[in-house]
Amino acid sequence: MRVIQQLESIQDKIQAVCERTKRDLSEIQIVAVTKYVSNERTKEAIDAGILHIGENRIEGLNEKKAFLTKYEGNITWHFIGTLQSRKVKDVLQANVDYIHSLDRLSLAEEIQKRSSGPVNCFVQVNVSEEQSKHGLKIDEVIPFIKQIEVFDHICVVGLMTMAPLDANEAEIRQVFRKLKKLQLEIEDMGLVYAPCHECSMGMSNDFEIAIEEGATVIRLGTILVG
Ligand SMILES: *Cc1c(COP(=O)(O)O)cnc(C)c1O
Repeated sequence: MRVIQQLESIQDKIQAVCERTKRDLSEIQIVAVTKYVSNERTKEAIDAGILHIGENRIEGLNEKKAFLTKYEGNITWHFIGTLQSRKVKDVLQANVDYIHSLDRLSLAEEIQKRSSGPVNCFVQVNVSEEQSKHGLKIDEVIPFIKQIEVFDHICVVGLMTMAPLDANEAEIRQVFRKLKKLQLEIEDMGLVYAPCHECSMGMSNDFEIAIEEGATVIRLGTILVG
């Protein structure tokens, strides 16, 4: 199916959730995750009107960027993958708009050192505390955010999480609910360097639950461009 058709069906679902939960459609940003698909397929997403693109590897991101140069300036780029410190300079050089995977002090230090101005970051949270997952534990997030106050090149725009793969709906909902609660708590702290307005949660299998629980950014791969 064409991306535009898949997008229409997703938008219908988002609209239905918004009506049900009295949320405004404009509060929800779709990021097309293009890590599995070709340059052409990514261009199709852009032609369908999705201007937020997410990649989890710097190589993939640079390849898509090079192919899409004529759209440069219109596209908002999201780096959503695990970020090794030694790759920070490449990610900054690629001029990404958002990093979704800030999860440790050493990474914050590296971003501080290598960037020339504020970088928009989501703090990644491992709500379910799975061994295999990256991200801070819920209890570690606020202390971490306090620690990065000294780094004036980091702006914490929000929190990001991934629900466990094999969880049931109730478990997934619980994960999203905890992230939302924490995001609002941090937002309420009114920190200039950590406005934390955004909640990046929800993927192909669970985006409707995520929206019900307050997601402002959903990251869609398979269901949108797959
Ligand atoms: C791959 C990926 C997605 C998209 O996954 P789908 O299930 O294909 O929608 C979203 N977020 C992150 C961090 C990813 O790595």
